[in-house]
Amino acid sequence: MSERRALAARTAQAIAALEARGVHAFVDYSPQEPDAQTPSPQGGGALKGETVALKDNICDLTFRTTCGSRILEGWRSPFEATAVRRLREAGALIAGKTNCDEFAMGSSTEFSCYGPTRHPLDATRAPGGSSGGSAAAVAAGAVSLALGSETGGSVRQPAAFCGVVGIKPTYGRVSRYGLVAFGSSLDQIGTFGRDVAGAARLLAVISGRDPLDATTLDRDPLPPPGSAPASLAGTVIGIPREYYGEGLHPGVAAAMRRATDRLRGLGAELRDVSLPHTRYAVPAYYVLAPAEASSNLARYDGVRYGRRVPGDEPDVRSLYRATRGSGFGPEVRRRIILGTYVLSAGFHDAYYAKAQRARERIRADFATVFGAGVHALFTPTTPTPAFKLGERLADPVAMYLSDIYVCTANLAEVPALSLPIGRDEGLPIGGQLIGPLEGEAAIVRIAQAMEPVVGATEEVR
Ligand code: GLN
Repeated sequence: MSERRALAARTAQAIAALEARGVHAFVDYSPQEPDAQTPSPQGGGALKGETVALKDNICDLTFRTTCGSRILEGWRSPFEATAVRRLREAGALIAGKTNCDEFAMGSSTEFSCYGPTRHPLDATRAPGGSSGGSAAAVAAGAVSLALGSETGGSVRQPAAFCGVVGIKPTYGRVSRYGLVAFGSSLDQIGTFGRDVAGAARLLAVISGRDPLDATTLDRDPLPPPGSAPASLAGTVIGIPREYYGEGLHPGVAAAMRRATDRLRGLGAELRDVSLPHTRYAVPAYYVLAPAEASSNLARYDGVRYGRRVPGDEPDVRSLYRATRGSGFGPEVRRRIILGTYVLSAGFHDAYYAKAQRARERIRADFATVFGAGVHALFTPTTPTPAFKLGERLADPVAMYLSDIYVCTANLAEVPALSLPIGRDEGLPIGGQLIGPLEGEAAIVRIAQAMEPVVGATEEVR
């Protein structure tokens, strides 16, 4: 048996064991055909021996791509995402597709037509979302790395809940070609790893300009991460006061205090800063993302992709209504209705245009602090550790508020990562580093310095 076949077989076994535990991180996987994923010699082999899981909204040629939605039931993509082609060419083995909230709309992976993913450390809890399957797969050790997608925190939030590293790059750093669109001005593919170097190595491989996505930055791929610096002397880290508000869980607050002390111990200079428009981030995000989604999801009409349900009448409206009404789940329908409303004549200025102005202010807040000599910001990734399954399903606003610290970076297009900084009653807690535009290398370097001293698996109180 070739080395690659053996790796594929071992990985399929590990995934089957995870699924047998009821974690339900995967929606499609198989030990078959690792040869169909042949790496190319130009790929350089940077990911040789690595296994990578793909969120179910990223197109590849081996598995189904269904975005956790009935409307794409059984759909196979005729093309692969640029990010997938690059990691395959670099020698990685694609292990399967992971569960996610339908069309990446959600913060718990409960809004999947396949049912929820469970937290790998506590089956009564959510792994976060929307890339919860990818986070759980890496946390449980079934794969070494995974891709997820970020529109408003869907890599960093589940990374924090599951105790792994998640990176959201600068908007345009990674091609969106082959990532199913949700909110195009916010969407980016992000990476998961068990450690900072792993997630950063995967990001380096998939980054760089792509003629197939005109919104990519005109930049070469990022270099692979260096070795962890022993000191952060000369590094200025901003502590934005708006991210330490009421409602911060005591375990998260304790973890942040300890991590901040350790940053100081590494020689970093900590500075109090303010991002005064932070409070508009969740409301602006939940106007802009649904607005863009309502337009992007118009293509699922029963004519071109996946599911088709003829309606009662022999006309096209009836076909649309029956297909979309039965194909989309409740959260996606809510977003489409909300998005259509905020874009409608008469309401456009009151909602959409206003949210765009709020986004500008949020972007300007970041530009101001980074312009004043701050190298990175350090914040909690989420206000609480992983919540219980079902706890927020009936209350969309409570669900949306779990994105309060993460959706700012998508609005401002800046890079950010979450790394595990401790545990509270066994549950992982994530700390977030936010960098200036194109500042991935800086936040990766700081995270690498923190990693060995931060006590990722130690209780915080
Ligand atoms: N939880 C957010 C939402 O539901 C973010 C989703 C995402 O980043 N894909 O829209």
